[in-house]
Amino acid sequence: MAVLDSGTRAERIAALGFDYAAQSKSRVERCNLCDESVFVGLTHRDRYGYAAAASGCSRCGLVFLDPVMSRDAYATFYMRTYRPLVSAFHGRLIDARTIQQEQREYAVERGDLLAPYIAGRGYRTLLDIGGSTGVVADAFARRFDLRATVVDPAPLETVQAQALGLETIEGLVEDVDLGARRFDTIVLCQTVDHLLDAAGTLNRVHQLLTPGGLLFVDIVDFRAAYLRNWSIEDAVKIDHPYYLTEMTIVAYLARAGFEIVRSDYAADHLHVSYVARPSPPQPDYLPPPTAVESLWREVRFVQNAPAARP
Ligand SMILES: [Zn+2]
Repeated sequence: MAVLDSGTRAERIAALGFDYAAQSKSRVERCNLCDESVFVGLTHRDRYGYAAAASGCSRCGLVFLDPVMSRDAYATFYMRTYRPLVSAFHGRLIDARTIQQEQREYAVERGDLLAPYIAGRGYRTLLDIGGSTGVVADAFARRFDLRATVVDPAPLETVQAQALGLETIEGLVEDVDLGARRFDTIVLCQTVDHLLDAAGTLNRVHQLLTPGGLLFVDIVDFRAAYLRNWSIEDAVKIDHPYYLTEMTIVAYLARAGFEIVRSDYAADHLHVSYVARPSPPQPDYLPPPTAVESLWREVRFVQNAPAARP
């Protein structure tokens, strides 16, 4: 970590010695959202400089890493590489301790968004998927008088959650056995883009939620991410298998059986939050083809942004 404030970004990342090319990966055969198999290759490098390629689904507009690291490779990545990599990228230490102040502020803001939908409902339990250090789950638990459970794959972070007295389960939510347990509130805070199987997880969340329960999920809006730096590559990073937009998260939620009761553009102009309740699944729901067309047109325009006329 001594190298964090020295050298260029590329040098700091190289000093980590993470060999992305050597990680086990697989090609994506089917779109996770709509099951289509015709993709558009979009990029060949990510913001860290790794040779990570992203594709888009020609039918629904979902963007994803393709090929994508295996579950085991991601498990090791979260244990050893993720926070040091983000630290090297930003040139400052970001770890399970330093992120807590940011998480506390996040918990207040998102708590304000959730409050009207939790008040007076008699909710008792909270499941935080990808709950990291538990700071957000702890804040929600205290504010709304809920018993909180945190699921997260990073042991350095679940240790912090345990120290807060929360029930913690280490692992990827897709692998964790929660049996017949049900939760009144389920939150995926800055997590859905990190999942390996977003559709499977949202379907599972639908099962895990009590009838009349509440879901919170937020996305990094892919369009906001690439328009911010006028670069598709800068919006792609190996820690995010998925790059969601408003149209694709709306489709995911409809297909898994959630009705959006509130959406919110975050103050950072990057994240978009959704508060939703269970509803009958609409397994055939797709974004309008015209919206998918305009996404590809915009991506291509950003990639080909014309230089000034000589
Ligand atoms: Zn698709």
